[in-house]
Amino acid sequence: DVRVRFAPSPTGPLHIGGVRTALFNYLFAKKYNGTFVLRIEDTDQTRYVENAEQYIIDALEWSNIPFDEGPNKNEKFGPYRQSERKDLYKQYADQLLKDNWAYVAFDTSEELDFHRKNHEEKGKTFIYNWHNREKLNNSLSLSSEEVQAKIEAGDKYVIRFKTPQDEILVMNDEIRGEIKIDTNVLDDKVLFKSDGMPTYHLANIVDDHLMEISHVIRGEEWLPSMALHILLYRAFDWSAPKFAHLPLILKPVGKGKLSKRDGDKLGFPVFPLEYTNEKTGDVSRGYKEDGYFADAFINMLALLGWNPGTEQEIFSLEELTQVFDLDRVSKSGAKFSPDKTKWFNQQYLQTKTDAELTDLFLPILEEKGISVAKNNAEKVVSLIKERATFVSDFWDLSNFFFETPTEYDAKASKKSWKEGTAELMQELSEVIEGVSEFSSVNIETIVKEWITSKEIGFGKVMQPLRLSLVGAMKGPHLYDIIEFIGKQETINRIKTSIE
Ligand code: GLU
Repeated sequence: DVRVRFAPSPTGPLHIGGVRTALFNYLFAKKYNGTFVLRIEDTDQTRYVENAEQYIIDALEWSNIPFDEGPNKNEKFGPYRQSERKDLYKQYADQLLKDNWAYVAFDTSEELDFHRKNHEEKGKTFIYNWHNREKLNNSLSLSSEEVQAKIEAGDKYVIRFKTPQDEILVMNDEIRGEIKIDTNVLDDKVLFKSDGMPTYHLANIVDDHLMEISHVIRGEEWLPSMALHILLYRAFDWSAPKFAHLPLILKPVGKGKLSKRDGDKLGFPVFPLEYTNEKTGDVSRGYKEDGYFADAFINMLALLGWNPGTEQEIFSLEELTQVFDLDRVSKSGAKFSPDKTKWFNQQYLQTKTDAELTDLFLPILEEKGISVAKNNAEKVVSLIKERATFVSDFWDLSNFFFETPTEYDAKASKKSWKEGTAELMQELSEVIEGVSEFSSVNIETIVKEWITSKEIGFGKVMQPLRLSLVGAMKGPHLYDIIEFIGKQETINRIKTSIE
């Protein structure tokens, strides 16, 4: 059975890299009729952020990638918050102690700092492992009586993993293939902290085991932890899940990982939903609030580090669940592109029905003080949407449908308004007055006949006409605008422009 999990730590809002991890887990689960689990890894209380869990859940919901099991949902392997599983981890740490896979260490942070400094002065890095563990302040250097006495005296201690020595560990990553690591370079990571909480490593392995996770799909930043995790599975005598480490998401320009600061600096969202920092009050942009469609956002994310092997770029979530697989996930980092993200939104906007878009446009119109029947607003939407990337572009693309222009673009005015234009416009308003069946096609036929009969260029009429109706040289097919605003308004606008 395929069982995968997204295991965020609630330390802040979910970065798009996190959403991408959730998405790939979701797609993998759906493809293999598996289960997508959400587990909240909140064992590090110093980094805990209130509301971050709710943010994560809201973000997954908005992205339309719901989890099957998780907090308050099908709690078959629950609880799914590590803070609520606290009591469970100690016994596993104790088991490792008993089996000699771990040891108790009393080193204070002052002692550790001292060692670090000492090493630094000699140009070395302090690593707590096989080459010095027997000289440090722990149960490998002390007698069992001494250890007992310290514990009874209330000395604080941690439990460290006893990394095996002199072994080339051969591991397999579903994306990267075979990875070898010399265990002598690993440090003896803390598994259990003096505050009675497990570290990420212990809790993560215990939970993946107990929740019967089959595939661990997570970001590349966890690759360095893979060796320890594999060794922990061995120490517990559990079979390890398969591992897949997703490539980094890189900044659009320059080198390195896409960070929150890149977004703030360049003005694009790195979060699915808007986020207000509780401490500073700083607001970071969200895709949702910036007017992106969730399906466009998800489509964009799917292609950050995965490709279908064809030229196809537009995929519904449903399609993605069919074509996605780990073998087409790349090893190298994927460059994030704000422009491409906009392109996806523009593409998705075109596929929305006019009715859907109109529902989103009506509140904007209302805010502008425009009251218009829904079917009329929908007609406008159908005329302008091909020029829009966001629904929020609609107003600028269409205000002249609803409001008489109050000013004219100076440059366009100079270019199109010449000697004789006023007379032409006057005559045109009479021609329009005479049109009885006031449809776009009919008006067009009649106006064109008139221009032809006058033996003048179309531009001589069309440019000042557009300027008078729209206020600038923009907008959709002019006759559609005329039909929409109606005969009287058209004539009024032409007359006003002559004055
Ligand atoms: N809690 C870890 C994180 O915040 C989970 C890493 C993993 O998936 O193992 O990313």
